[in-house]
Amino acid sequence: MLLDISSQCSYLETRTEIVPVFIKRLVQFERTVSLETRCYDWPPAILKKGLKALIFSAGQSKAYHVLETASKLEGAPSGIGTQKTQYDIAVEQFQRAADLMQLDQNVQEILRKPRRILSVNFPVKMDDGRILLYQGFRSQHNNALGPYKGGIRYHPNVTIEEVKALSMWMTWKCAVAGIPFGGAKGGVTVNPKQLSHRELEVLSRSFFSLISEIVGPYRDIPAPDVYTDSQTMAWFMDEYSKNDKGNALAVVTGKPLIIGGSLGRDSATGRGVAITIEEAARHLKMDLKKSTCAIQGFGNVGSWAYQFLEQAGVKVVAVSDSKGGAYKKTGLWFNEVAAYKKKNGSVINLPGTQPITNEEVLELDVDILVPAALEDVITGDNARNIKAKLVAEGANGPTTPEADDILFKNDVTLIPDILANSGGVSTSYLEWVQNLQHLYWTAEEVDHRLKNIMVKAFAEVYKTSQEHNVNMRTGAYVYAIGKVRDAMTIRGWV
Ligand code: NAD
Repeated sequence: MLLDISSQCSYLETRTEIVPVFIKRLVQFERTVSLETRCYDWPPAILKKGLKALIFSAGQSKAYHVLETASKLEGAPSGIGTQKTQYDIAVEQFQRAADLMQLDQNVQEILRKPRRILSVNFPVKMDDGRILLYQGFRSQHNNALGPYKGGIRYHPNVTIEEVKALSMWMTWKCAVAGIPFGGAKGGVTVNPKQLSHRELEVLSRSFFSLISEIVGPYRDIPAPDVYTDSQTMAWFMDEYSKNDKGNALAVVTGKPLIIGGSLGRDSATGRGVAITIEEAARHLKMDLKKSTCAIQGFGNVGSWAYQFLEQAGVKVVAVSDSKGGAYKKTGLWFNEVAAYKKKNGSVINLPGTQPITNEEVLELDVDILVPAALEDVITGDNARNIKAKLVAEGANGPTTPEADDILFKNDVTLIPDILANSGGVSTSYLEWVQNLQHLYWTAEEVDHRLKNIMVKAFAEVYKTSQEHNVNMRTGAYVYAIGKVRDAMTIRGWV
């Protein structure tokens, strides 16, 4: 049955950036809703049709939920329904630290919002001759400490709110790592899996050409993120280098080695996660050789963290991917898991293991937990069930502020994302330096420099959290915000 909710949706129609957030929320609420993803790409005039398509595919009973949600949204000034957006969470985390530091109100005003957000709409000619319009964003949060830096993601759920939050987190992440960058993030609302190689190249070149006005080796340096990779960066660099900009290798990082990529970049984030766990274990007097660990996510971050933790003597007893998890009390060797995953496409049903859900992976009786897949997985609902004494956030934003409070109360040490997964951007910094100096380092040199950055960052954050008697997230924020404030002050911005 097709219901027309157009009369309920006037607010949505006037705020096109809200619609994908709304649909994402709906999908999160009721995971069985299947929707026509193309509606993300539709211009405002036919968004109404997109919502109709959603209701159509959701079926009548769920349509009532759509109606209810849509009417709640009428006139909403920001955010959607009762759920917080990632930007709401980013601002809440910032506010906690700002209050604790009694941060100057003018500085707060400036740091609560990105300095500049560029929103672009651009056509892409598809292989079958259709012209589709895509929307993309680049949010530049703050550049007091240096040029903007942050990834570009391709995903159907990309929204302006998400990109704003991620750009803010990048400001803090770079400040925590002590690398001379500010924070930015970009994205295109698209499902890249539905595009051919040629369509992806056209989309990437068009998007980058449109944001070229505000990026550059000394202005804003993008990198890969969700569903973008070294090939995307190669297209970006090539596009930017046209129009007499020469070979602008330093305009993006995460490039293929042959055109200025850095050795050690692939493993950097997972390596950084493992280094911060080692540092935390020293403070907590945990013997890693006697510790067990569960890892949610077996992608780039999860699988490299797995290898480095195994090398440090940690026994990994559970691992999961999007299809589910595998648990074995006596431990799982990385090589065994990787070979099985390569052959079967998932870790589930690995011989000798017990199948578990992704939710159960988080609640296992282990010493260390590494959420390395998704955002918002440790929440007020399940934080009390977390048994690990040490949590290292490989993913961005896996823990909500409510969960942070519960974990802290329960004496769980949480290494926040802006510290734990900063190994990626730190090695991006090393790539940028190599590009600018035209002198390239060995893998050992890169790894050594990364280790120095991570150990120093951990020590500073740990010290700040101890001084203020707060959790490490707030400690990391206080440390990072203090640096950005000092840079803004000395530059005469406030
Ligand atoms: P990836 O795509 O390589 O891996 C993601 C993993 O998560 C895959 O194993 C996938 O199967 C799994 N997954 C997907 N849905 C899941 C679900 N519902 N439950 C459990 N697992 C699920 O991505 P990645 O590069 O490893 O990034 C993971 C996280 O780390 C993201 O939050 C990303 O923003 C963050 N991060 C990555 C880097 C980096 O350098 N790659 C740097 C900083 C932060």
